[in-house]
Amino acid sequence: MKKFKIGIDYGGTKIEGILLNENGDQIERKRYSYEKNYVSGIETVQKLVNEFDQISGEICTVGFGIPGFSSKDTGLVTNANSLWLNDKPFKADLESALNREVRLMNDANCFALSESIDGAGEKFKSIFGIIIGTGFGGALSYKKEIIEGANQIAGDWGHQPLPYLTDEEIKTEIRCPSMNCGRALCAEQFMSGVGFANVFNKKNNTNFDSQEIANLDKKGDPRANTEFNLYEDRMARLMAVMIGVFDPEAIVLGGGMSNIDRLYKNIPLLITKYTFSNQLKTKILKNLHGDSSGVRGAAWLWNNK
Ligand SMILES: [Zn+2]
Repeated sequence: MKKFKIGIDYGGTKIEGILLNENGDQIERKRYSYEKNYVSGIETVQKLVNEFDQISGEICTVGFGIPGFSSKDTGLVTNANSLWLNDKPFKADLESALNREVRLMNDANCFALSESIDGAGEKFKSIFGIIIGTGFGGALSYKKEIIEGANQIAGDWGHQPLPYLTDEEIKTEIRCPSMNCGRALCAEQFMSGVGFANVFNKKNNTNFDSQEIANLDKKGDPRANTEFNLYEDRMARLMAVMIGVFDPEAIVLGGGMSNIDRLYKNIPLLITKYTFSNQLKTKILKNLHGDSSGVRGAAWLWNNK
């Protein structure tokens, strides 16, 4: 049995890899830029994997976190925002480039897997992982395994419309620019870090990013406080929908917006306004592995424990 695992996170501009030993300890971690095209991506992966094989002295297992997913039916990548991956037989091409079987999984799923196995969700059986960065997506895990779903999008509810819409939200007339969505009042347009900043800036005629708005809030800026109150209520509504379907023991947040502390205090107080239960046992938790969760989860796609 292989002792070492490699996890690769295939990002839009950088490819990052991690080498874990059999206990899940990090032995090495590297990150390379690549040209935004298919061939350059595969060559960069090859370089990373060769380096890790040499460090470990064995042919390691390799798991990949990718944008979108590798279709179980066709073997082609679907839904990737790194557009050059779409409709390519990425799994087969990686296997021939690396000379071994590889496993591919959506990057939000890798996050949820990492946090379930030895992260913030370790003590819980059912986890809903949410990534709030430039995008907004989710993933489900149960007993330390990802529930991928019939359409391979289980838990990925970020492009559904916001639930329990308010008049203010309807008046924004926000519509999603993504080709696969395009829907009015798509949640991502309000909830991603970029979306949150856009909504704030449009309302206040400003030009801040989400981190700057968080800093304003800490200094007591009433506009920032108002917008975070609205954001927390939107998140509570979105979480309530998932609780109504999956009812997880823990919800773990990742991505840039997960660093905003007030979310963990305020959102749990709002959720029962929208659930069919007047008590909330679900824990709302910050991730443990931070930026490492993507690569760690990819490595754990080969979980021999
Ligand atoms: Zn959308």
